[in-house]
Amino acid sequence: MSTSYDVINPATEQIVKNVAHLDLAATNDVIEKAAQAFQTWRQVAPGERARLLRSFSQVVTDHREELAQLEITNSGHTRANAMWEADNVANTLMYYAAAPERLFGRQIPVAGGVDVTFKEPLGVVGVIVPWNFPMPIASWGFAPALAAGNTVVLKPAEYTPLTAIRLGELALIAGIPQGVFNVLPGKGSVVGNRFVTHPLVRKVVFTGSTSVGKQIMIGCADQVKRLTLELGGKSSNIIFADADIEKAAAGAPGAVFDNAGQDCCARSRILVQRSAFDRFMESFEIAVKAFRVEDPNLDTAQMGPVISKRQFDLVESYVDEPVAFKGSAPSGPGYWMAPTVLLPKNTQSRSWREEIFGPVVSVMVFEDEAQAIAMANDSEYGLSGSIWTRDVGRALRVSRGIDTGALSINSNSSVRFWTPFGGFKQSGLGRELGPDALDSFTEVKNVFISND
Ligand code: NAP
Ligand code: MG
Repeated sequence: MSTSYDVINPATEQIVKNVAHLDLAATNDVIEKAAQAFQTWRQVAPGERARLLRSFSQVVTDHREELAQLEITNSGHTRANAMWEADNVANTLMYYAAAPERLFGRQIPVAGGVDVTFKEPLGVVGVIVPWNFPMPIASWGFAPALAAGNTVVLKPAEYTPLTAIRLGELALIAGIPQGVFNVLPGKGSVVGNRFVTHPLVRKVVFTGSTSVGKQIMIGCADQVKRLTLELGGKSSNIIFADADIEKAAAGAPGAVFDNAGQDCCARSRILVQRSAFDRFMESFEIAVKAFRVEDPNLDTAQMGPVISKRQFDLVESYVDEPVAFKGSAPSGPGYWMAPTVLLPKNTQSRSWREEIFGPVVSVMVFEDEAQAIAMANDSEYGLSGSIWTRDVGRALRVSRGIDTGALSINSNSSVRFWTPFGGFKQSGLGRELGPDALDSFTEVKNVFISND
């Protein structure tokens, strides 16, 4: 039995489009076609595979306005963000377009012959995408997977399928052969779960909640299926008294409220050294109140709505601690929430410990370096974080002390397509992006050739 889903614009609550969902039989069909396409895609000469990926990148660039507009309408992303996201897909494709000719093996000294290694593609790779960054997260999986010679089946989140569907069409326009890159809108429990159970899917790339990630890990064990997990976060923005407090305060709203806080890297814990607390809060309040929450179509918008009524209610339930101050938000239709700053009573409070995934941040004081590190590490998560200090030695000590995958010092930016990204602890397994991501889309084969 086939189903469908009404995509809602979160800024207006209007229905944008009805999207048909694949059922189990249709999912099996696409997976089998992707497995057939793998037999020819893996044989495509490296230079030709590279050319096709460059062509795909160019076609995405040619359609960046259209893709961005789709994301604004489907996901409520601000225009500036949506343009960055479309460009991120093109850039990620272009970066990995350089890979096919550079998938080097090794030649290892042995007696009696030659020993070489090959990086073989895995087969069909299943990419499962969440709703918060539909375009970039999809490409972080499919670009290196395709470059390494795999074919891809990709399931967008139910809420946000529109850009993924369009990317599937653009791949064909770019000349990527039929069956190589397949987009399958549908339910996580049907399409996503079939990626886990279908023996022809050799690897799963999952980005989403830690709870679903654990279920997928259990499921993948049955076939010892390769798996990359990018899960939740509860990252710290640590501000030492010797830092440029004004700069740290000016950047702190964007570090957590960007994409309405629906960002696994959101710095949703702010730790401020006691002697700088008043100074920081004064500047931070000005910055939060100036943060522009408005129609995401506007060039000036810094934050749009949250994705759904369900997410809105969930995020609201965290506002049960003393509120320091709030920003503003439009009224009327749409899932609008004002940026909210909480002062939790202690480190056991829900808002301090749980990933909220909305525009809510919690602030606490610390006394010294050791306490800052201990507070940041007091979490099952470890994805990103920021450290603000003018002391280079302290910056190094604290960054080495925090159990997290992507840190920035005197900055809040930690995602670049050419540097590795991923989590410690329950924030994930494996790394995406950067030069080494190809290792997780290939299997090493060792071949000994005798002199005889
Ligand atoms: P989610 O519920 O875990 O869903 C993520 C994806 O998995 C969706 O496509 C979903 O499909 C699918 N899915 C759900 N149940 C499944 C199952 N049993 N088997 C296979 N697939 C299944 O997460 P979300 O609510 O979309 O996103 C929010 C969460 O994602 C947050 O916790 C956030 O931190 C995390 N996240 C992490 C990163 C990162 O890079 N570390 C990035 C983004 C988001 P449906 O849409 O049909 O439910
Ligand atoms: Mg979910």
